[in-house]
Amino acid sequence: MSETGANEGVAQPATAFSWQMNQWQQLGALLEAKRLPHALLLSGPQGIGKLRFAQAFAHSLLCQDASTFAACGHCQSCRLLAAGNHPDYREISPEEGKRQIGVDQVRQLQSFVGQHAHREGGRKLVVLHPAEAMNINTANALLKTLEEPAGDTVLLLVSHAPSQLLATIRSRCLQMSFGVPDQKVVLNWLQNYIGDEALCSRLLTEASGRPLAAKALFDQDGLSRWQGFDEQLQGVIQGRQSPVQLAELLAGEDILETLDWWLQRGLRLLKQVSAGVDCENPVWQAFAKRSAHQLVVELDKAQLLRAKMQRGATLNKRLVWEEMLLNWFA
Ligand SMILES: [Zn+2]
Repeated sequence: MSETGANEGVAQPATAFSWQMNQWQQLGALLEAKRLPHALLLSGPQGIGKLRFAQAFAHSLLCQDASTFAACGHCQSCRLLAAGNHPDYREISPEEGKRQIGVDQVRQLQSFVGQHAHREGGRKLVVLHPAEAMNINTANALLKTLEEPAGDTVLLLVSHAPSQLLATIRSRCLQMSFGVPDQKVVLNWLQNYIGDEALCSRLLTEASGRPLAAKALFDQDGLSRWQGFDEQLQGVIQGRQSPVQLAELLAGEDILETLDWWLQRGLRLLKQVSAGVDCENPVWQAFAKRSAHQLVVELDKAQLLRAKMQRGATLNKRLVWEEMLLNWFA
């Protein structure tokens, strides 16, 4: 840290990813036309960078350098953001160890929205993620904020599952959706980080093309764990252990991760069964005799369960897996 403090708090500001330029330009156009709404809902699959997009947009709106539509990284606002204490910026997400956004967190937001921005003529920005982590009370509290004229506040809701939000919340936001990005672009991006092209391709395939999910798989050594789960599953297919024993084992793991493994594998199997081609995963090929319809029914159940768990439901993991595996092996 320099003695003059000239470089203190100067950090690279958040920028949108290269595959988000369309959405970035759309917002730029709204801003230029002075038609930026008070609430936006950014939705799309988990693991494609929506949160960073929201942060980048929020930072660019708070930046005092008006010459560009991206945060400059040098002005007082940018320095406060980098230091994590900008008075006109709030980020709301479940508190540590929790899966839900608390109603108190949203109530505090109301007083924030009620104040004027610290910077004269400036805006206040709120990034709330993921929006589906609000229960009905929290969502209703947020609705109050959305119903009252928000003045100089812009609220950015990030959601992986917008259908789970109250319709009244959705209808008060401008909705902007993000799809799974172009695979060439994200392969390049991932390669810059990891190198090995074959590994990057495999990670992207495993993560259904979602770049940040693929990177997380790499960072957390997920591929080898998923392979371990596959081997255990193989044990059941070959009669070396029962579905109940596998359920016991899976219950000892992180439920969201095991459900992700199951869903990603299952969804790929479904794709391949629907296309009439063999599943490239020899373990899962054992389920290829199932009809696409059966797979859809089972995978829907798993998806619902995952959503429930993500919202903070406390279900008995062993029973969850027992039921799912017994259905699957029925
Ligand atoms: Zn700036």
